[in-house]
Amino acid sequence: MKTRLYNAYICTMVDGDTQAKQGEVWIDGDRIIHAGPVGTGGSSPDHAGADAGAGAGARAGAGAGAVDDASSIDARQFGTGSPGDAMGAGGAIPGTGDAAGAPHTFDYELDCGGCLILPGFKNAHTHSPMTFLRSFADDMPLLDWLQKQVFPMEAKLSGEAVYWFARLAILEYLTSGITANFDMYAFGDDVVRASVDSSFRTVMCGAISDNESSPAKMEAEYLRFNATHPRISATVGFHAEYTCSQKLMEEVAAIAHRHKAPVYAHNSETRAEVEQCKGRYGITPTALFDRVGLYDFGGGAYHCVHVDENDMDIFREKGIYVISNPGSNMKLASGIAPLCRMQEKGVSLALGTDGPASNNCLDFFREMFLATGCQKLLLEDASAMDAPAVLRMACSSGAHAMCLPQCDSLAPGKQADLVVIDLLQPNMQPINNMTNNLVYSGSKQNVKMTMVAGKVLYGDGQFDVGVPAAEIYAKAQEWTERIKGM
Ligand SMILES: [Zn+2]
Repeated sequence: MKTRLYNAYICTMVDGDTQAKQGEVWIDGDRIIHAGPVGTGGSSPDHAGADAGAGAGARAGAGAGAVDDASSIDARQFGTGSPGDAMGAGGAIPGTGDAAGAPHTFDYELDCGGCLILPGFKNAHTHSPMTFLRSFADDMPLLDWLQKQVFPMEAKLSGEAVYWFARLAILEYLTSGITANFDMYAFGDDVVRASVDSSFRTVMCGAISDNESSPAKMEAEYLRFNATHPRISATVGFHAEYTCSQKLMEEVAAIAHRHKAPVYAHNSETRAEVEQCKGRYGITPTALFDRVGLYDFGGGAYHCVHVDENDMDIFREKGIYVISNPGSNMKLASGIAPLCRMQEKGVSLALGTDGPASNNCLDFFREMFLATGCQKLLLEDASAMDAPAVLRMACSSGAHAMCLPQCDSLAPGKQADLVVIDLLQPNMQPINNMTNNLVYSGSKQNVKMTMVAGKVLYGDGQFDVGVPAAEIYAKAQEWTERIKGM
């Protein structure tokens, strides 16, 4: 099926470009075939279908005027209250496709009414099934919270429970414009099943520890998940230094070497974690992981709040992505990761919510704001970590951190994973700077549509994920009650 999204502003993020321009996005199946202005370079759609149903206000092919030059946003044509408008059915505009000589015809054409289209956010670190522990045990230090509250409850989980808790998380991702999650959790098969059934995109991260899984099981899952489904992939990973013996870490490193695979783990989240590691090994977790050979094929490190200059040098030299989780770090009082210093040193950065038990919400607008706000506070410098830098962390760099280069931008050949942002809301007006509006003022209420692999999974407040959202809420509540009653 070919879809045309027109009368929009496009933030392609090609080569990290965050400036939005007027243009269109054309999609064939799960891939983008055009993203940008029309009427130049030989690409032109068949306009007959567009004009047939769009009504006044359509500005297809209006050229490439920069956002800051825009004097007005046309009346909204996209989504008039009916879910079908955004879902590419019902209210969608069928292209007639019969204009002689037109190089492109479309099955559906959607007038975006001046909305902003950008690549979907990439949640590069989360534990989706932990939705069941949302607001269950808050206001506790991390190690107490983990050992006294989280681990005992997780011991009662079943695969079926994990499936529904993960499905709940995916609903929340969609409302926030998130189009892929990097998930570290046990019951990997059930998390994958939840993602496939929801038509979502998931990268599974190995979740091995002394108490969870085994090297053989993790390696088997790594191979199986990478062959399961086009929207599912997997990386080698382990939980953290403080939950894994050196022998286990060496076994994980051997798996990474066998497959030339990057490795991901929690790293230096709390001061106590780093001090305890130094007590055990005489070096920081980062230096230890490097010494064991875990970083020989790149990878990523979650949190990295308490890292030193040598750790950051290792990240840069080994191509390790630092995946920051400012909401979780703030709520658990872990501290602020020195992201600006890492940037100065050339370390690549990405963003994640962490799990919904520590955050507690899976909201990338809040996460982006905290990422920049915390740097400004830490450095007492209002110029620290500007909006374009945060947007790159959330979109393009996040895709690279998750080994999803096919999802990093809006460009021909890339996957059609995108979010449509409604600019016709008070918090997005007036438009002096669209990128700054998005990062400093944007919120989930501005998410008009979330598309994964060319399929609209969320539009105008309605989900299209295979089952009604109400059923997912009921199942998640039911399983939460059962586990609490055990
Ligand atoms: Zn985590």
